[in-house]
Amino acid sequence: MAKPLALIRALLFPKRCVYCGKVVGFAPSCRCAPQRQRCRLDGTEAMLVGAVPGLAGGVACYRYEDPVRRGIHRLKFGGARQFASFYGEEMADKLQKTLPGLCPDAVIPIPSTRKERRERGYDIPHLLAQRIAGRLAIPLWDDILVKERETMRQHDLPLAERRGNLVGAFGIRDADRLRGKTVLLCDDVTTSGATLTQAAKTLKAGGAAQVWAVVFARTMPR
Ligand SMILES: [Zn+2]
Repeated sequence: MAKPLALIRALLFPKRCVYCGKVVGFAPSCRCAPQRQRCRLDGTEAMLVGAVPGLAGGVACYRYEDPVRRGIHRLKFGGARQFASFYGEEMADKLQKTLPGLCPDAVIPIPSTRKERRERGYDIPHLLAQRIAGRLAIPLWDDILVKERETMRQHDLPLAERRGNLVGAFGIRDADRLRGKTVLLCDDVTTSGATLTQAAKTLKAGGAAQVWAVVFARTMPR
């Protein structure tokens, strides 16, 4: 039986599904759960090995399809900042289940553009990385990989132009700390893989021994 205060709070601020936004109240899961189950990636589909050049490997939790896609849109454009910790938990879980032997030295978020940060007031890869670092009990390095220049949002560009958009986009600060380390890149979504590839190349050029990645969702090759 719920405590009276918890009951009042639940009535005033009903619990909503982080994916579709519907009120779930006291229900254990939302009605979009079976749909979400279909988006869940298992085994080889979840692995980013070979899918993203430059990475030693990596993990994705879901296909970038509804209702997961809707959830990410809510996170990106709906100001749903509190969802980031939930997604971060799922990413850490998936990583530990899929690559139990992986022990990165640090988590590095893909740097957002200034425009993205200004528009949202928060930085999604950073929030996700924070949670993952906490769960894996490893440091968060948010000052090593930096955006050297503002780039167009990858999402707004045709596939053919995405790679060119990122050439020279990233830079390294404090390469001494990076030398010989195994690092874990973190981003919300990967589509062409161009961002992860460019970031991985930059980190390796800066001295990293291995670069792995974890993303919440990925588009699948056709
Ligand atoms: Zn739902």
